[in-house]
Amino acid sequence: MRHLLGIQELSAEEICKLVELARSFLALSRRPVKKAPILRGKTVINLFFEPSTRTRTSFEIAGKRLGADVVNLSAKASAVEKGETLLDTARTLQAMNADVIVIRHRLAGAPHLIAQHLARGAVVNAGDGAHEHPTQVLADLVTLAEHGGWEGKTIAIVGDIAHSRVARSHLWASRKLGYRVRLVAPKTLLPAEVERFGCEVFTDLDAAIEGADVLYMLRVQTERLESRALFPSLREYHEAYGLTKARLARAKKGCLVMHPGPMNRGVEIASEVADGLASLVLEQVEHGVAARMAVLVSLCGGEAS
Ligand code: ASP
Repeated sequence: MRHLLGIQELSAEEICKLVELARSFLALSRRPVKKAPILRGKTVINLFFEPSTRTRTSFEIAGKRLGADVVNLSAKASAVEKGETLLDTARTLQAMNADVIVIRHRLAGAPHLIAQHLARGAVVNAGDGAHEHPTQVLADLVTLAEHGGWEGKTIAIVGDIAHSRVARSHLWASRKLGYRVRLVAPKTLLPAEVERFGCEVFTDLDAAIEGADVLYMLRVQTERLESRALFPSLREYHEAYGLTKARLARAKKGCLVMHPGPMNRGVEIASEVADGLASLVLEQVEHGVAARMAVLVSLCGGEAS
């Protein structure tokens, strides 16, 4: 694996290897001394052109736990603000001998473009537009693996599918690993030609909940909505597509709740569900660090790879 650009580019075997490697790092992160200097001497640069709490921090912590030097660069504080192109920024970072450039960008394909032009170093996609978010899905797969695995499971992904890179990465993962995905959204938040994805599509959340093993709630991505007229109001959205305690009570016994964050409480998920026993939201965050450790080790080499 030279780069991690998307789940699309990975084989089932590579995905499973990354998940298993990530799981082997879980214990390390729970120790009082959270260090395994496998990547000592390596440089990881986080280049974020879009806001992020979980992903950026998680890559930073992952790199530091492995002993790498981690540098964070946000577009606002960089020469991008002065008009430098994305490629020039990337080439500059390469000239400083970065081993891994982790990039988040609002344009789909931005990490792929950089990867094509860099002779050295690895590129990791930390979310590109509405295209892919591979490390989120690796974190989710670690979470599913810790809860009995994904085999034979049905995951209902609910909400703003049209703008969700997480949903797209799950679609790729589900094809490769064989779990079932249901897409659930109002027609206005479903991508064009959604039938091409080859999975079940629901516009009725209550119908989609029936028989689902996991309810995966998505944030309404207001920053990507060209017009806000895709549903009447956030209140009505919550009534039709919000996961409430009453709705969850009608789900299959043991049904799990996931969300990639950041959550809009009271919109796609009620607080009592977000904080309830079925919620794996904070586990996803914890597993995200381990997943990113696995990715960095796989790309940079090191004893654990
Ligand atoms: N954190 C995820 C992403 O960056 C989901 C979201 O922002 O709603 O795609």
